[in-house]
Amino acid sequence: MKWIDYENAKTVDEAIKILSQSGGKARPMAGGTDLIVQLRNKDPRTDADVVVDIKDIPDLNVLQCDPKTGLTIGAAVPLYKIYNDDNVKKYFPAIIDSASLIGGVLIQGRASFGGNLCNAAPSGDAIPNLIAHNGIATIAGPNGTRDVPVEDICTGPRQTSIGNDELLISINLPVPAAGFGASYIRFTPRNEMDIAVVGAGVSVNISEGKFTAARVSLASVAPTPIYVENAVNALVGETVGDAAIQRAANAAREAAKPISDMRGTAEYRKHLCEVLTRRALNAAIERAKEGK
Ligand SMILES: Cc1cc2nc3c(=O)[nH]c(=O)nc-3n(C[C@H](O)[C@H](O)[C@H](O)COP(=O)(O)OP(=O)(O)OC[C@H]3O[C@@H](n4cnc5c(N)ncnc54)[C@H](O)[C@@H]3O)c2cc1C
Repeated sequence: MKWIDYENAKTVDEAIKILSQSGGKARPMAGGTDLIVQLRNKDPRTDADVVVDIKDIPDLNVLQCDPKTGLTIGAAVPLYKIYNDDNVKKYFPAIIDSASLIGGVLIQGRASFGGNLCNAAPSGDAIPNLIAHNGIATIAGPNGTRDVPVEDICTGPRQTSIGNDELLISINLPVPAAGFGASYIRFTPRNEMDIAVVGAGVSVNISEGKFTAARVSLASVAPTPIYVENAVNALVGETVGDAAIQRAANAAREAAKPISDMRGTAEYRKHLCEVLTRRALNAAIERAKEGK
């Protein structure tokens, strides 16, 4: 293994300074559950001379959930803190769906939603869920701070729109409106410690028996997690029921452009898109009815 310097940044400014001065050869590290594996495997996409540990930066450890302001998840907050938070459980139960299924207990002690998003794997289990919740990523760099919708972060497998000299600070989810429900489900051959063959993250807003808003996103069916606009169009304004749900599930199937690999053929994945979108929508509708 080549020599890699380790820096433990204590502030956002310090981390950005190190990133800016490294000529693109520094990598932020939150839990390290992706990064360390990639460095050990000498993955050419993760060449680094410096690893910048960001876990001690207070701004990246904020976990604030308030029914009046929404949910802020600092980029380095480990998953176990998210799924043990009583307010997250109460107001954003679908976020627990992702936090509690990534890896196993040991991974959940280190891994973060921020790392999951910045790693930009097509199969990242947090990403469709954050898209379904209208998540906004706050990114800081040498020229200040910018807010970007989560669906605009991943640009290719393990590629993002976050610059080499920038740092994801937090992911912010707006207050769920009345009649809101969301859900994330995935299919894996094993129950845990496996990569999603397909993942579906959805949300709905329901008023007087109709869908007033919706979001549908899929993982593992394209080079990046995708937002499925046609599935959303199949729902909004329609009566809540099997017909609209099936039209959205069909649209999800059509939007998927999967590859065939050892975990499933492209045709199987397309079939799973339909099944998982339908199931996730039904689960989200149940949560909307329960006021969760
Ligand atoms: C055994 C095992 C099981 C796993 N199971 C799953 C699973 O079920 N589902 C799943 O989706 N993933 C899984 N993973 C992958 C990994 O655990 C997750 O993607 C995790 O969420 C990554 O978070 P992290 O904090 O460890 O990221 P890190 O490894 O610290 O970082 C990942 C990438 O993001 C960059 N980065 C991190 N933070 C920032 C930031 N604030 N700003 C800019 N860039 C940043 C890093 O430089 C790196 O390129 C698994 C990994 C292992 C080893």
